[in-house]
Amino acid sequence: MLDKTRREPDRKLLIKGTQLAAGRHADEIVDILIANGKIADIAPQIDATDAEVLDGNQTLATPGFVDGHRHLWQTNLRGMLANAVLADYYRGVRVGYATVYTPDDVYLGVYAGAVDALRDGVTTVLDHCHIINSPEHADAAASALKDAGIRAIFCYGFYAPPVKNPVFRQRHDRYHDVGRIRRDLFPSDDGLVTLGAALTEQWLVPEDVTADEVRTAHDLNLRNVTLHVGANPAKTDIERFRSTKCFGPAFTYSHCVSCQAAFFKFAAETGSAVVSTPETELGMGMGFPSTNKALEAGTRFGLGIDIVSFGNGDMLTTTRLALQTARALHCQPSVLADKMPESAGFSTKDALTWATSGGAGAVGLADKIGSLEVGKQADLVLFTTDRLSLSPLSDAATAIVMHARSNDIDTVIVDGQVRVRGGELIGVDIKGLLPKLEESKRLILDRVQQARSEQSNMSKAYESLISGKNE
Ligand SMILES: [Zn+2]
Repeated sequence: MLDKTRREPDRKLLIKGTQLAAGRHADEIVDILIANGKIADIAPQIDATDAEVLDGNQTLATPGFVDGHRHLWQTNLRGMLANAVLADYYRGVRVGYATVYTPDDVYLGVYAGAVDALRDGVTTVLDHCHIINSPEHADAAASALKDAGIRAIFCYGFYAPPVKNPVFRQRHDRYHDVGRIRRDLFPSDDGLVTLGAALTEQWLVPEDVTADEVRTAHDLNLRNVTLHVGANPAKTDIERFRSTKCFGPAFTYSHCVSCQAAFFKFAAETGSAVVSTPETELGMGMGFPSTNKALEAGTRFGLGIDIVSFGNGDMLTTTRLALQTARALHCQPSVLADKMPESAGFSTKDALTWATSGGAGAVGLADKIGSLEVGKQADLVLFTTDRLSLSPLSDAATAIVMHARSNDIDTVIVDGQVRVRGGELIGVDIKGLLPKLEESKRLILDRVQQARSEQSNMSKAYESLISGKNE
């Protein structure tokens, strides 16, 4: 497999005549010069005879989307939980399918999910990988992300799915293994894929376990730590976040739907970030997305997909859901008072920000990506505009957030490398992937069926999961 984390050296790319969708020069038509993986220049007219020219006529250029919370390994289970609430998900996935995944299933799910995300304009993903049932599972996930050519934060999961014959006999074995991964696969934080940690939900484990998990991430100097927070029925105890040192600029809390204003204030004061995944939050009975509360408190804030075992992997859908839900919540007091709201509260420009620069901030990459500026890494997406569905053309942010479809994405560039051109992934054997995904899903279902008929451990595991006695 081609190592897509390596950049072709000294190759320049010149995008001619594209309309910027964000930033100070939004809606201006410009040329963008890309060199050594970075945006080298943005100007009305650039001449670079040594650059490969890419015609940007009738396109909108936006920073690549940043997905701040996804479990890529569940790509093999697409749609299996489409009608599930969170309890079904715990029963079906966390103590079910997760126990029978092989390293090959993990590789396939993470790789397929990552390239599918790329096709939809996601150039950076924070992968909350809570399927690490053995060192081989961890290796598979890391390799898949590196092979996909996406910018990614591989967050090694400390959660222990209740497998029948665990390779990791105790939780310290996982801490030891993430140390191996750091040393052998991610010795620095300079690569396209970097290492982080995904903690076990606080309500699933005793306080000392959370403290150990945080300490492990800290000792390995990991720049990213993520965990699920405040997804019903979980209560959020700020004191416990403090005592376990579960806060700070490295932290990205996902969901936070049931958290109150005091928690968001705490997150803002400690520099922790919040990511909302509106499709799963709204659809699985978690509660209303935290967008309004997080923004009001001033936390770093972004969006994520969460799981395609439930919903759509498309960030455009997610962004629109986030926007309209935030508007509904903003207007609801007026509605209840039988008054016409004065404003919608949030604009299409705001929503595009959450999906791009906001997300970059929420995963600690604001200095590198998230905007189209000279000096930033060249992660960007070109949308084609000569479509009936986008005509007549509105301002670029509105066109992308409200009217664009992922099929309007023509080009996706990550770190200066063209990953999608003409709407097609480059160097990805889609035809070969499809039967593999079908087969992997079939085998996972067979194995879980087998496990269920052999023992009643699944329901026991579920009971202990929801009663907080995971280990
Ligand atoms: Zn999640």
